[in-house]
Amino acid sequence: MAGLYIHIPFCRSKCIYCDFYSLPMRIDASDYIDALLLEFNARKKEITEPFRTVYIGGGTPSVLPLSGIVRLLSSLELDWSRVEEATIEANPEDITTEWCAAVKQAGITRVSLGVQSFIDTELATVGRRHSAADALNAVRILRNAGIRDISIDLIYGLPGQTPDSWRSSLNMAWKTGADHLSAYTLTYEPGTRLYARRQAGKIVETDDDIIVSMYMDLTAEARRHGFNHYEISNFARIGHEARHNSAYWKGVPYLGIGASAHSYDGCVRRWNPRSLSAYMADPASSCEMESLDADAVHNDMVMTGLRTAHGIDLTLLDESELRLVGRYVDSGMMSLLADDRVRITEQHWLVADSIISDLFRVG
Ligand code: SF4
Repeated sequence: MAGLYIHIPFCRSKCIYCDFYSLPMRIDASDYIDALLLEFNARKKEITEPFRTVYIGGGTPSVLPLSGIVRLLSSLELDWSRVEEATIEANPEDITTEWCAAVKQAGITRVSLGVQSFIDTELATVGRRHSAADALNAVRILRNAGIRDISIDLIYGLPGQTPDSWRSSLNMAWKTGADHLSAYTLTYEPGTRLYARRQAGKIVETDDDIIVSMYMDLTAEARRHGFNHYEISNFARIGHEARHNSAYWKGVPYLGIGASAHSYDGCVRRWNPRSLSAYMADPASSCEMESLDADAVHNDMVMTGLRTAHGIDLTLLDESELRLVGRYVDSGMMSLLADDRVRITEQHWLVADSIISDLFRVG
């Protein structure tokens, strides 16, 4: 199996914490869609297996004109009968009955909704354009439209957020009936307005102790509501795990098209320019590439696998790595799974980075 990722680099406005590649929305993005189709046709042969998942991310794909999204999906020369999941990211203010009907008809099975918080003051502080009521309304419309899978994104550690307000957002998320939740810690990325405001003393970063307590609430509440914590930031009811992302975490090949998109075919990593003008100048062949050596493949496997409940295959580790894993298992930070696999325990996922870097190979 393989995945297709399509990057839409447009947003209506820039959230203050965001360092994704995104630009102000242009009214007519038809030239960008033409470029995506050109690139797909030129590069689809890089992936020899059939595409089983499609993921349209951004940016904010839902800001595209509806006719543009439909044209993009209907013009992709894919064997849709083999596509098991097709996701589009959307912001709540863009969801309408007409939008749902059109994207569903075009093949979309899953919508990932950028909610971030159900508290209006928290949304306003980080520059989100929607309200909590907009988000609830959006989920209601998606459900009424029969969209098979709905995922909600939330952030913890937002400026002004408290453990109580975080619990309120979580409670609202469960009440919506969505079967998938992605919950991320707010990060202060250099170059963002959030970072600059913290440096200027206008925003106070949430204490680590509070972040830990929010994470513990998140994992306990998710379990209580029947959600499986299957990746460090992702929770789902059984059968509603994101197939596209799960395949990516298992090292399945994927083709990424669009400005700043990345691709991986199992041996070679490719990345498109993080510049709309550079991409548009030559969409079919503007990517750079690097062949991965054995150490890089190992490091990718460790980095992605240890962020999942599926873990990594012990038979792929050398003797010194196995000794290290043994010490982590003895200390309770890792646990052994069936089929010779090992994972980081849920309560230690917050310190996953240090465990992962211990298992990196440096050539
Ligand atoms: S809508 Fe998403 S991609 Fe766009 S600026 Fe906000 S966080 Fe970034």
